[in-house]
Amino acid sequence: MQFSANVEKLKPSATIAVSTLAKKLAAEGRDIINLSAGEPDFDTPAFISDAAIQGIRDGRTRYTPPAGIPELRSAIAERLSERSGRKMESDGVVVTAGAKQALFNALFTLFGPGDEVMVAAPYWTTYPDLIRIARAEPVEVFGDQTNDFKITPADLDQHVTDSTRGLIINTPCNPTGAVYSVEELTGLAEWCRDRGVWLLSDEIYRNIHHAGDGAAPGILSVPAESLGPYVLIDGASKSFAMTGWRIGFTYADAEVTRKFSALQSQITSNSATPSQVAALAAFSDTDAADASLAEMGEAFTRRRDLVCRLMGELLPGVPFIEPGGAFYLFFCVEGFFDDGVTNATEWCSRLLQKQGVALVPGAAFGDDRWVRMSFATSDEIIEQALSRISSSVRAASVG
Ligand code: PLP
Repeated sequence: MQFSANVEKLKPSATIAVSTLAKKLAAEGRDIINLSAGEPDFDTPAFISDAAIQGIRDGRTRYTPPAGIPELRSAIAERLSERSGRKMESDGVVVTAGAKQALFNALFTLFGPGDEVMVAAPYWTTYPDLIRIARAEPVEVFGDQTNDFKITPADLDQHVTDSTRGLIINTPCNPTGAVYSVEELTGLAEWCRDRGVWLLSDEIYRNIHHAGDGAAPGILSVPAESLGPYVLIDGASKSFAMTGWRIGFTYADAEVTRKFSALQSQITSNSATPSQVAALAAFSDTDAADASLAEMGEAFTRRRDLVCRLMGELLPGVPFIEPGGAFYLFFCVEGFFDDGVTNATEWCSRLLQKQGVALVPGAAFGDDRWVRMSFATSDEIIEQALSRISSSVRAASVG
């Protein structure tokens, strides 16, 4: 069948094979530990859900302006002003149906045929596909493993061409958990500014930061004069355990923001009104929000410590990135390849079949020698999963 050029390069998600198999095995009654999910295991904090329920009872169930209810845009701008120490305007905010739509709006508005968009790699699986939907070309830029795969201006120099129009970074990073420092972000921002390249920064995991000094730095921590054209992408999904509510946002220059809003007005209109009312509570009741972020953050950091300790004990010598943020552990399984298993996709399938543990193969993130394990689950499940992985590796090495 003939499809349009819009989707001709679209690939099915690399994660589908493992997750389909995981579901099939679980349906057959197998004991499956599924660590492939990209979402917090907590319920949405009650003060947020209660606000939505009250909003529905109060009749807040109709269309809103495409860019979002004005109070929510203002609350987000206020939080961003605190983040940056400078005045951020509500007319720079568009509330979207999840950070994914925020990324779509930005990529589809800013790039098109003939444009190259650099993607810091390993990358969240959706970026290259969204760039292709805009019919632009994704260009993978890998950072060095010794730098937790974070990219530097020198890495960008090796991939820049006359067609380079944008760069996407993600901090804290899915899948590595790496966190860029303010200095590193400033270097990247200045590199983009000097070349008129759009900098898109996806900071959806910024509140899940294990350094114990508040949220991770982001592009608004960079001095204003170092920033050229940029779009900040963020949302409520990961910070407030709100993945199903579908609330993300962009922050950008007001003129660009009007284009994002016009695009969205023709596609989804506004994100769901009760979800916006819920997000209004999350972004304006700062005491309750801080308490929830602290509680969930503490659990994620404890699990991060546990998973790193268990890697040392159960899988000694296996390279992994110590996550500074988010809730993923990215580790290298190349040392376990053999005649029958030559990439992480096959390794993950075998692990799932034999040990009942579902991980995401690195093919989804640009490097199929690595795998991603989510630690957004209980300590017991993390322990069980790593001990099953360790048994599987030992069984494979003895034949
Ligand atoms: N950006 C990154 C790096 C993600 O990992 C995800 C979800 O996994 C998203 C964006 C999408 O977030 P949302 O659920 O708000 O669309």
